[in-house]
Amino acid sequence: MSIFSPRRYQPAFRPMHRDSLPIRAFASFEAFAKGVFFGCRMCGNCILQETAFVCPMTCPKGLRNGLCGGATPDHCEVDPSRPCTWYVIYDRAEKLGRLDTLLEINAPIDGSRTGHEQWLDMIRVWRKRGEGPHPADFLFKRDKFKREWDAYFYALRQPDWWQGDSVYHPPAYTEPISLLEANLRTGAFVTTAEIAPPLDASREGIYKKASMLKPYVSAANFTDNASATVRMSSIASSKICLDAGLEPVMQIQARDRSRIVVESDAVGAAGMDIRNILCLSGDHHRFGLSPIAKPDQFDLDAIQMLWMLRRIRDEGKYLDGRKLKTRPQWFLGTAASPFGAPPMFEAIRAEKKINAGAQFIQTQPIFDYDRFTDWLEALDKRNLLDRVYILAGLVPLKSARAAHFMDEEVPGVVLTPEIIKRMDNAGDKEAMQQEGVAIALELIERIKNTPGLSGMHIMAVHWESIVPRLVEEAGLPRPVIQELAEPASAPVMAEERPRRATHMA
Ligand code: SF4
Repeated sequence: MSIFSPRRYQPAFRPMHRDSLPIRAFASFEAFAKGVFFGCRMCGNCILQETAFVCPMTCPKGLRNGLCGGATPDHCEVDPSRPCTWYVIYDRAEKLGRLDTLLEINAPIDGSRTGHEQWLDMIRVWRKRGEGPHPADFLFKRDKFKREWDAYFYALRQPDWWQGDSVYHPPAYTEPISLLEANLRTGAFVTTAEIAPPLDASREGIYKKASMLKPYVSAANFTDNASATVRMSSIASSKICLDAGLEPVMQIQARDRSRIVVESDAVGAAGMDIRNILCLSGDHHRFGLSPIAKPDQFDLDAIQMLWMLRRIRDEGKYLDGRKLKTRPQWFLGTAASPFGAPPMFEAIRAEKKINAGAQFIQTQPIFDYDRFTDWLEALDKRNLLDRVYILAGLVPLKSARAAHFMDEEVPGVVLTPEIIKRMDNAGDKEAMQQEGVAIALELIERIKNTPGLSGMHIMAVHWESIVPRLVEEAGLPRPVIQELAEPASAPVMAEERPRRATHMA
């Protein structure tokens, strides 16, 4: 067990190339000492200053910007024998009064630095900069020392190719990029739905479902091997949906993808006119079917994906600095978990996502409306509601078994005891479906009248045929804009993006 962090999840990294013997000996000593104190995995990209001196690399997903949707105060969702590293970080940051340091968007690891010593490197950087901090100033010029100290550590943890910060970056274009964005900009209540990618190579199912949903929703989401279980890819499903005449939201998970594949897939999607991209960290392989892939397959997290893709779109440069002649057009989104960590912590994570580039958020399904509004209020307190479009998640329940499964097995989803009781007492299969629809309609009625929300995302997985009935019976508006005027050119710098007021009462 380490003193300041949870223990290491996996052994320390080894360097990509062999150093000289004295340097290797020093690195071994450093790995031992930092292991005892921080459970350090020698990632070589230390951000302890930003994480209340708890090593984020002890998180099994290696998340460097906040917790995942399945985190609980009791344990980590991947390895229940250990605490959630990010709960430890949030708790300690709150006690130390350092919660705001958690807003800075931390870089992914630079693989060339893993496993190497870092203490000598810190001295080298300090000497090369020649800009302090100077030990004498600690005694006599405390303000100067602090300024230089902060600048020095910023330079250490934020490489030139990343330059993460903690401020909001509005999108650098004016005209809407996708139909979904155009509809959200009208201020009308927008509905999106989810279509499960098929298990096989058939296009027919997506064609049929997309044609059925088109009059009712602005876009359809395609999951990206959700629950770490293989299906048709999100990018292929999205293209088939687009061919069927309905705009897709292509989900893209960080799991299983290096930064190279994320950039390549997202640019490829733009090349096929798939414009809505939803960035997720992804479910760990532990939740997949056997045999599961080797652990530790997270090169990025959702926030890093958003930061990277927004900059590709708005600055026209890959992470490695190469320029794109034609910039991709993406309307970027992400997911949020209103029932995960306490709303205050979730709001910090939401702010990071919005600052990084998220323009819309689709939430986990809502069953506990009161807890959901607690989360919305926490976002409102951070003045986030007029910077992002929020679509509340809704799952119509098909059976009591589905209700229990969601409550007990799906990370970050919470059902109320009343809803579970109603489903348990509903009766036969037909009656359970009717009860599920009744519950969904009651929730929609409350959601559509909630300030701060821009719409709803219906996840009727394998029950997509219920969506038209829900939209009709709930009186939800149909998509206002059916066709997009082609933007005149690649994204143009915008001084300020037009927004509608969404502050909660
Ligand atoms: S619950 Fe999620 S965020 Fe927390 S340590 Fe486990 S994988 Fe990381």
